[in-house]
Amino acid sequence: MCGIVGFVGREECADILVNALRRLEYRGYDSAGIAVFEGDRIRTVKAKGKIKPEKGDDEHSGLLYRLETEGKPHGTCGIGHTRWATHGEPSDVNSHPIGNERVSIVHNGIIENYREIKKFLISKGYGFESETDTETVAKLLDYYYEGDPLTAIAKVLGKIEGAYALGIIFRDHKNVIYAARKECPLIVGKGEHANYIASDVTAILEHTREYYLLEHSEIAEITADKISFYDINLNPVEKELQTATWDIEAAEKGGYEHFMLKEIHEQPEAVKRTVSPRIKDSMPDFEECGLTDEKINGYDRIYIVGCGSAMHAGMVAKYVIEDMARVPVTVDIASEFRYRRPLVTDKDLVIIISQSGETADTLAALRLSNNIGADTLAIVNVVGSTIARDAKMVMYTNAGPEISVCSTKAYAVQIAFMYLLAFRIAYAKQGITEEKCRELTSELLGISDRISECIEEKAQYQYVASKIMNADSLLYIGRGLDYAMSMEGSLKLKEISYIHSESYAAGELKHGTISLITEDMPVIAVATQQELFEKMQSNIKEVKARGAKVVLVTRKGIVYDEDSVDYKVVLPAVSDVLMPMVTIVPLQMIAYYTAVQRGTNVDKPRNLAKSVTTE
Ligand code: GLU
Repeated sequence: MCGIVGFVGREECADILVNALRRLEYRGYDSAGIAVFEGDRIRTVKAKGKIKPEKGDDEHSGLLYRLETEGKPHGTCGIGHTRWATHGEPSDVNSHPIGNERVSIVHNGIIENYREIKKFLISKGYGFESETDTETVAKLLDYYYEGDPLTAIAKVLGKIEGAYALGIIFRDHKNVIYAARKECPLIVGKGEHANYIASDVTAILEHTREYYLLEHSEIAEITADKISFYDINLNPVEKELQTATWDIEAAEKGGYEHFMLKEIHEQPEAVKRTVSPRIKDSMPDFEECGLTDEKINGYDRIYIVGCGSAMHAGMVAKYVIEDMARVPVTVDIASEFRYRRPLVTDKDLVIIISQSGETADTLAALRLSNNIGADTLAIVNVVGSTIARDAKMVMYTNAGPEISVCSTKAYAVQIAFMYLLAFRIAYAKQGITEEKCRELTSELLGISDRISECIEEKAQYQYVASKIMNADSLLYIGRGLDYAMSMEGSLKLKEISYIHSESYAAGELKHGTISLITEDMPVIAVATQQELFEKMQSNIKEVKARGAKVVLVTRKGIVYDEDSVDYKVVLPAVSDVLMPMVTIVPLQMIAYYTAVQRGTNVDKPRNLAKSVTTE
């Protein structure tokens, strides 16, 4: 998510900071800013929007324009930030650097206990200007600061919870940068009479290749000629200097060949980041967004509306909610929903899913539901987006920016989020006990490790890809939750490899589609559900008997007939209901490696756009 930079040296630094921020633009952001020691004060310039306006943006917007109109701050030490809003919409005041006349900070990540800290600081007489969680850290630093920055920082690190990378400057410690991190990335770059901080080495590669990796809960103190590290008890720490070998382009992708592969690898973290803030006392909790058990109990029906992968995430949720909560759920494609006079009433809940929060059809479906008087809940990734603003309730997924057009981590966090929601709905509707709800929630919270295990199995996926890459057409089949996953798997494959594919409910094949099966049409059978496996086994045999090459995606513990399978992917076993969280990985990676082997433009497939803001 977003970017942090910092420079301390002998040269004027405003341009250095802005250029470094531009190198981090690939990470996605919605506002940017810098703060520089100028004379005896810290001067901050920041603005909502892109650093330099893009096509369609107001040309009088963004950080560069603001620097031109307000004048660049002059000085040789400063910090900079590109923000990807999580708390408070993108706006000038919510942009970073954030602080007061004594201390200024840039922050990436989320402070989970910011509410308690804010309450505490208000009781001490502090006021708050922004809606960010970040401001609580800035003010807490100010509260603890009695002349020694390191002591104040160590105290603050002991109080804040969550994920963060921080760049900090104190007005009366001129030309010194402090940095700390937990879970979010941050490096300290070493130059000639100039040192840096950055979210990743890409930002500073044009100046230096030498850097230190800051570890969790370490603090760095950086001047033009000296870099010192401390642990949380302020004992000095020795660190090894690293040398970057990447070229700039590879570095932007974190060393991965494509953004899609990078984003697949980010899934375990993204899922954790999305799920954990919504769990209180081991239970999913949405009260803060206005979704109480009382409200849930009042709904007659639930509609879930989205496009593409978001709609597929809705399919997973439908199976889980109907099964556990016994409440009817209709999943709709937004472009169909909006034009077919849906039977929604003011007693229904309409859940709108969108990564960008700007998808035109989904937005129209939301507005229609609002007009009908239904309760509306938006699940979006981009804070402050139109859908987030228009919905009666909004909840954010925390996937971080997704660059690859083909959605991977944004979908993974959508299903993770929908599970939490489903569990709470089932609990409120008395479909499951509190104990069961806790048990499932805790398994979901720990599922990132299983996702990581699946990601490691690259050789299997490459092998399967090599076997299907020359096919003209493919079929994905599954039952229940596996059918929902087949839909997503098939979409991934056609989006980026340009091989035609369809997903089919396995039991429906014999009613027509099976006539397409020949030895040239591979079938990917997704079969991870024990209860449905026997039926799946029969469907697999049906296609095998007609010559198809069968790829089986199953899990450990399911016994299948080896003779009916040509290639297999065996996933780690988790509860059947949660299998989609791991099943998604092979489906994404088979699509990815097939596309790579066919030489397509993986991150920017033809004819597609990331955020579909037209009908
Ligand atoms: N949570 C902070 C905010 O919303 C930082 C977000 C970021 O990582 O850019 O301002």
